[in-house]
Amino acid sequence: MDLTLLKALSEADAIAASEQEVRDIFITEAQKYQKHIEFDGLGSVLIRLNESAGPKLMICAHMDEVGFIVRSLSSSGAIDVLPVGNVRQAARELQRVRITTRSGNKIAGMLEGERCGSEVSALRVDIGASSQDELLQAGIHPGDRVTFDSEFHALPGQRVMGKAFDDRLGCYLLIALLRELSQTTLPAEVWLVATSSEEVGLRGGRTATHQLQPDLAIVLDTACWAKNFDYGTANHRQIGKGPMLVLSDKSLIAPAKLTQWVEEIAAREKIALQLDMFSNGGTDGGAVHLNGRGVPTLVMGPATRYGHCAASIADCHDIVQTQQLLSALIHDLTQDTFTHLTDFRCQHNGC
Ligand SMILES: [Zn+2]
Repeated sequence: MDLTLLKALSEADAIAASEQEVRDIFITEAQKYQKHIEFDGLGSVLIRLNESAGPKLMICAHMDEVGFIVRSLSSSGAIDVLPVGNVRQAARELQRVRITTRSGNKIAGMLEGERCGSEVSALRVDIGASSQDELLQAGIHPGDRVTFDSEFHALPGQRVMGKAFDDRLGCYLLIALLRELSQTTLPAEVWLVATSSEEVGLRGGRTATHQLQPDLAIVLDTACWAKNFDYGTANHRQIGKGPMLVLSDKSLIAPAKLTQWVEEIAAREKIALQLDMFSNGGTDGGAVHLNGRGVPTLVMGPATRYGHCAASIADCHDIVQTQQLLSALIHDLTQDTFTHLTDFRCQHNGC
C-alpha cells in the first residue's frame, strides 16, 4: 500500500463543496497517467481509465468529509460554526480542529459546544482570541471550512488511523486502480469518479452519474459498527475481516444477480466478504442507481472503527483486498457478463 498517498488524502481538508485539496490530488494523478479528465457542475472529478466498446462502468467515491463551516464571528472572539454533514454528537465538543481560511492558511483551534442530554449545540471554535478584530486580523471569514485537526498514523499490525477515512479510503482505491490498470486492456470502459458533497445529501453522485450515463456502478464507501470490540456474527463491519458488500441500505437494495456475481468473484479470488446492511443512512448509491432509467449499482468498501468523528481506524489488508476484488470484477466485466447480469428474464446467475 502507498501510505504516503493515504496520508495525503486523509490530511487534505475537504468539506462538501469545498473539496479542492482532494480534487488536486486526483487531477495530479490523472495527468501523471495522461488520462482524460472532466468535471460535473458541482466539481466531481470524472477520470476515464480506458476506452472500450464494452459496458460503461462507473466506480465512485466521495471526496467530502464531515466537518463544520464558519457561521459568524462574535464580538467576544468566539467563532460560531455549523456542522456540515452528520458529525457524531460526541465529536462536537472539546476537539482539536483547524480552520482553512480563504487564502488557504490553516489555523488550529478547539471546538466546544453546549451539551443538553446527548445533543451538543451552539458550536464554536476557540483560537484564543478575545475580540472580533483579532479574528478578522487572523483572516477568518464566514464560510471558511473547519475540519478535525488529526494527523495520519500507521499503527502496529498494518492498521492505520486518520481523519476522513469516510471516504478517502474510497478515494485511495480509485487512485490505486488508476495506477494498477493504467496500461491494461479491459473489456469494459471504466470511469473513476470522485464525487462532491455526499455527506450533505448525495449531491455529486447524482450529477456525475447524470453526466456519465454509466451502464453499471460500483460505489465505494465505508461504515463502522457502534461497538468496536464486538466480534459477534451480527457485526459485518469488523476491520481485518475483508471488504464489506452492502446488500441494502435506506435508499438502495442491491440487485441479487449483482451481489451474487461479486460473491462468486470474491470466492474465486479467495477474498472473504462481509455482507452488510445499513439500518440507517446510505451512500451515493441511493442517488446513483436512480439516474435515468435506473443504473444497476453495488456498494462496497473496507470497514472502519469510529465514523464521522476526529479519526477512524482501518486495516490495510481490507483496503488491499478491496482493490484486488475491484480489479477482478473489472477484468470479468465483458459485454456478455454485463448482458447476463442485467437480464431480467431470469433471476439466477446460472441461467
Ligand atoms: Zn461515506
